[in-house]
Amino acid sequence: MDKQRDFVLRTIEERGVKFVRLWFTDVVGTLKSVAIAPAEVEGAFSEGIGFDGSAIEGLTRTYESDLLAHPDPTTFQILPWRGEIDPTARMFCDLTTPDGQPAVADPRNVLKRTLAKAADAGFTFYTHPEIEFYLLKSDKPGPHGLEPVDRAGYFDNVPGGTAHDFRRRSVRMLEDLGISVEYSHHEGGPGQNEIDLRYADGLTMADNIMTFRTVVKEVAIEEGVHATFMPKPLHGEPGSGMHTHMSLFEGDTNAFYEEGAQYQLSKTGRRFIAGLLRHANEIALVTNQFVNSYKRLWGGDEAPSYITWGHNNRSALVRVPLYKPGKSQSARIEHRGIDSAANPYLAYALMLAAGLKGIEEEYELPAEAEDNVWALSESERRALGYRRLPSSLFDAIRYMEESELVAETLGEQVFSYVLSNKRREYEQYRSQVTPFELKHSLDII
Ligand code: GLU
Ligand code: MG
Ligand code: MG
Repeated sequence: MDKQRDFVLRTIEERGVKFVRLWFTDVVGTLKSVAIAPAEVEGAFSEGIGFDGSAIEGLTRTYESDLLAHPDPTTFQILPWRGEIDPTARMFCDLTTPDGQPAVADPRNVLKRTLAKAADAGFTFYTHPEIEFYLLKSDKPGPHGLEPVDRAGYFDNVPGGTAHDFRRRSVRMLEDLGISVEYSHHEGGPGQNEIDLRYADGLTMADNIMTFRTVVKEVAIEEGVHATFMPKPLHGEPGSGMHTHMSLFEGDTNAFYEEGAQYQLSKTGRRFIAGLLRHANEIALVTNQFVNSYKRLWGGDEAPSYITWGHNNRSALVRVPLYKPGKSQSARIEHRGIDSAANPYLAYALMLAAGLKGIEEEYELPAEAEDNVWALSESERRALGYRRLPSSLFDAIRYMEESELVAETLGEQVFSYVLSNKRREYEQYRSQVTPFELKHSLDII
């Protein structure tokens, strides 16, 4: 740690860094930032930087509002978009109370606690997300509603198009920040893009996702367009998922791999999936946290709406990707439910906790869904025992209220904050009279 700190202090000096931004994340998943002068960094390492936690969504109760931000020196990076004149760096922070206890409501701490639980069971958790988002001409609707930057589709190469340049610039910026990108391409919707990050351990990846969102927003501003991670911004077009590939390692061994097993998937992998399926409804309020999230999870467009798993089945909630011979290290499973607007720390903590529960309790994996679940009738689905994912934020609230697993993983404070915040959002939504209702009912009633 001391070596890392020295490295940070030396780099600040050598590169003439003028500002250091301390980053952390609120419970909803919004990035927070406070800039300090280079001279303050040493003190920030030893004592932390104080701030009023009660002013930040979900972090504290007002009577215990003082918090300290402690920068994590391993996350030090110079921000490429700040230019050469006033070089600016950033570090992610861990939050503590004034007496040095980890702040229970710090999402980074929630994930760290869950990773430590996995470590106690001998596992390291790796993830890689495929992050989908839309590029719009503006965040203000034109005469025909929101306007995407192009009309292209899946894997389309758009010569001279905004999306192409946009992805190239974003990927370069991410690489400058030490974040490796595996693929990037145009997605199915007009103006929709996807960038896939190379796998990393769960905590690094959650940090990387926060950085990713910032980079994409920064590049959008520079290109004069609007980037959105909203789960379903356009009616009739696909939503934006954040499919996450996951694996557990025991030392150097991929615990999801077993030579000769069905799909080369080990018992540990099967139980992990069983946990994800059994607890899918309880964790949905975090993996899919907005009213709008449930518009994506409803009815096709390659987003799941039933709790199933499958091999190459894109309607399933969990998919076991095709195994490439000789690549036991890359054996993994893909969660297709989580969307691009989730708080990655909390969502990854809950996905991991659900999978670990499956391993711990030796859950039996139900039969895989071979069919396209969307194409079946409701009674066929019922006969096959396919349970539905929550179809609204309200449904998701009801499931989470009853969940011991979620209460235990998030901790009492985050658990009750998420619930009350989401109840409020749902009530606000419910009180709206929408254009749909007017069109549907005004004349006939
Ligand atoms: N956009 C789809 C979703 O909402 C996923 C498309 C794909 O398979 O990558 O999850
Ligand atoms: Mg995709
Ligand atoms: Mg995918």
